[in-house]
Amino acid sequence: MCGIVAYVGHQDAYPILIEGLKRLEYRGYDSAGVALLNAQDELNVYKAKGKVSDLEASVVGKDISGHIGIAHTRWATHGEPNQTNAHPHLSNSGNMALIHNGIIENYMSLRKELEKRGFTFKSDTDTEVLINLIEDVQQSEHVDLFEAVRIALNHVVGAYAIAIVEKGHPDEIIAARKGSPMVIGIGQNEYFIASDATPIVGRTQKVVYIEDEQVVRIKLGEELFIRTIHDVEAIPYVQELEMNLDSIEKAGFEHFMMKEIYEQPRIVRDTMRGRLHPDTNSVSLGGIVNYEKQLLYADNIVFVACGTSWHASLVGSYLIEFLAKIRVKVEYASEFRYRHPVITPHDVVIAVSQSGETADTLAAIKLAKEYGAVVLGICNVIGSSISRATDAGIYTHAGPEIGVASTKAFTSQVTVMFMLALRLAELKGTLTPEYRAELIQELDSIPEKIQWTLDHSAHVKDIAAKYKDVRNMLYMGRLQNYPVALEGALKLKEISYIHAEGYPAAEMKHGPIALIDKDMPVVFIATNRNTYEKVLSNIQEVKSRNGKIIAVVSEKDVTARGMADHVIEIPDCISIFSPLLATIPLQIFAYHIAVMRGCNVDQPRNLAKSVTVE
Ligand code: GLU
Repeated sequence: MCGIVAYVGHQDAYPILIEGLKRLEYRGYDSAGVALLNAQDELNVYKAKGKVSDLEASVVGKDISGHIGIAHTRWATHGEPNQTNAHPHLSNSGNMALIHNGIIENYMSLRKELEKRGFTFKSDTDTEVLINLIEDVQQSEHVDLFEAVRIALNHVVGAYAIAIVEKGHPDEIIAARKGSPMVIGIGQNEYFIASDATPIVGRTQKVVYIEDEQVVRIKLGEELFIRTIHDVEAIPYVQELEMNLDSIEKAGFEHFMMKEIYEQPRIVRDTMRGRLHPDTNSVSLGGIVNYEKQLLYADNIVFVACGTSWHASLVGSYLIEFLAKIRVKVEYASEFRYRHPVITPHDVVIAVSQSGETADTLAAIKLAKEYGAVVLGICNVIGSSISRATDAGIYTHAGPEIGVASTKAFTSQVTVMFMLALRLAELKGTLTPEYRAELIQELDSIPEKIQWTLDHSAHVKDIAAKYKDVRNMLYMGRLQNYPVALEGALKLKEISYIHAEGYPAAEMKHGPIALIDKDMPVVFIATNRNTYEKVLSNIQEVKSRNGKIIAVVSEKDVTARGMADHVIEIPDCISIFSPLLATIPLQIFAYHIAVMRGCNVDQPRNLAKSVTVE
């Protein structure tokens, strides 16, 4: 999630802040804003929906003076992307301004408490709650801003990188982080603060990376002063910045797609944040809480989606039917809108889309509404057309996805499917408390298991090198891994232009087996315990026809690995969770093949990121 930049020093802050925001633009955002403290101790705040250039246009003729300021590009998580919700946010007294990246999970209860104490709110954001919490602590405890921030953060559940300026303190910024990144550049009588080193490159070589739960006083003429939120002093560790602009925009990766693949452990955690409760073995989905009854008693839950989102929906259908015993259908939005589907007010339609702008899915929503169904959404972009057109929904919180081929958006959608299925199962009482607990604990461990999968994926590049020149490939999986086979094949098609198809493994005999010969590589996802033996037979069938086998197996597997030409391991897990893991090496495989073939990985030919036409 998005960008923060702050500056205090001897230069004019505004041009440095704007330049910094522009350097962070690659992260994607929906609005931008800046706060400057001028020589008269006035705090000027300017915000605009849209691009940094819109912000620049909005300040023409205004007072942009000041040697201290904070600036932000927002990727909305709480409240629509509009000018009011954009950062910086002012405290009620107007004395301080805050920028924030991340999510304050318990903002609702904090806001209610603050309202009781007389605070009022202009925006729908979690961020405005935080700045007023800090002001409340400052006023009631009679402490300085640093101490108020430290105390306030002890009451906060969630993720944050924040920077605050306060009237009367023209030489000081207070910053803190947990979960969201933050780096401070130390110049000659000036400091730069940012989400990553991009805005700092070329300004100073000396940087300090702030650790989780640290609060920093950044004051001109003084060393950085750092304490943890638990009031333990920390020594700043100053490092040399050895990066060029190009590489840090992609966090050191050559392409956005690979960067986004590697973000998945964090993204899946972000998607679950504040929703999955491993301490009580429960799930809460605030966005759809008023529609839980309709979901539970629905004749059908009908997913409408396209492409990768359709695959995530298919995983969802397996999960909801298996865990919550509710009938689920999965429809291509493009077909649904024209095929005169039978939908009644007793159905719940769920539209799934990364961008929230997919034209066919929007048309499907319109139709479902005409039939009187409740329509919910699962999408990534806050305030998008789908989020506005639906009755309620669940955001995936995957952050901006820049690579056209979807990776982290898929895993975040599948994570939402797990939480939805588990929530419905909880409400319906279809699982024993012990089994539900086991599943929730497993879901909670998935980010670490994705990390393990990434850490053990170096050899996937070597496998890719062997198959980079093939013309066709097949992908086979069963049950929840059938959609993974579809998604693996889609990734390869999209970015390498190799023809690939996914099938449920047992369908092989009904046609695709005719294609098998020495030139046909087949990827098997052989991780599901229930159908393991069956998949082994399919592997055998390919082998006896000289097909090449790449098997994705569990770490503990003994049999499939002996039969395959190449093995890719994922950590052992409860079988239904393997889609979240098996997908990862297939993304990496497609990526390397595409790079070796010289394809434009981030912008494949003929494809668009959000398909806003029919
Ligand atoms: N949760 C905050 C908001 O929705 C910050 C989002 C961000 O990281 O940009 O305003």
